[in-house]
Amino acid sequence: MRKKLIAGNWKMHKTIAEAVALIDALHAALPFVPADRDVVVCPTFTALSSIAARPRGPIGIGAQNVYPESHGAFTGEISPAMLAEIGCAYVIVGHSERRAMFGESDAFIAKKAAAVLAAGMSPIICVGETKQERESGRAQSVVLGQVAGSLAGLEGRLEDVVIAYEPVWAIGTGLTATAADAQTMHAAIRAELRRIGGAAAERVRIQYGGSVKADNVDELMAQPDIDGALVGGAALVAEGFARIANYR
Ligand code: PEP
Repeated sequence: MRKKLIAGNWKMHKTIAEAVALIDALHAALPFVPADRDVVVCPTFTALSSIAARPRGPIGIGAQNVYPESHGAFTGEISPAMLAEIGCAYVIVGHSERRAMFGESDAFIAKKAAAVLAAGMSPIICVGETKQERESGRAQSVVLGQVAGSLAGLEGRLEDVVIAYEPVWAIGTGLTATAADAQTMHAAIRAELRRIGGAAAERVRIQYGGSVKADNVDELMAQPDIDGALVGGAALVAEGFARIANYR
């Protein structure tokens, strides 16, 4: 039985004061969570320490990005150990915004994921096809290629990895894959994970992301291969995110 993972990606939103207000409101709205799920928020780097110091009950913390070296002359970057020291349990790597805007490749994402694992955290590796790739019938080959490429060298560590399937056309657009279409892709990802890592594939959590909201989360979470949600916009409102975390 895989424990579901509901994660909020706050992206480049919220000053420290605003982030503290949001975590306080979220803690009030979500004082406990059922034992079958983990709930995590991923604030900006600047807000992480302040969030870590707040009473948060069952809500864990994660980061949105990392640099895959332990220290050195990497101006502007943050190491895995720095995030672990704050108390992060998860790090999002390879979000489609970073793939598109910062040119991150599968090989670089695999390096980041390995560094996150080495520091004792779990990477949330994002994959997903663009609208054009879907319309040209290439969605599955693109996504499975990203899965294989982003897991290169991590074949023995699969169960500590989280995959987030996020169709790019569904991120921040209000468009969501139907629960059935998402399940089809998640099952294909699981089959690819089996090919890569054998039985460990059954223990890998595969989140869905892309305009997850209170009114579609229940149906998505009911699918057999959907093991949680990576939530962007709807994670910025405490009551809305609490409702998503309390999916039925
Ligand atoms: C995301 O950016 O990971 C995301 C899923 O965003 P949204 O929920 O706003 O579509």
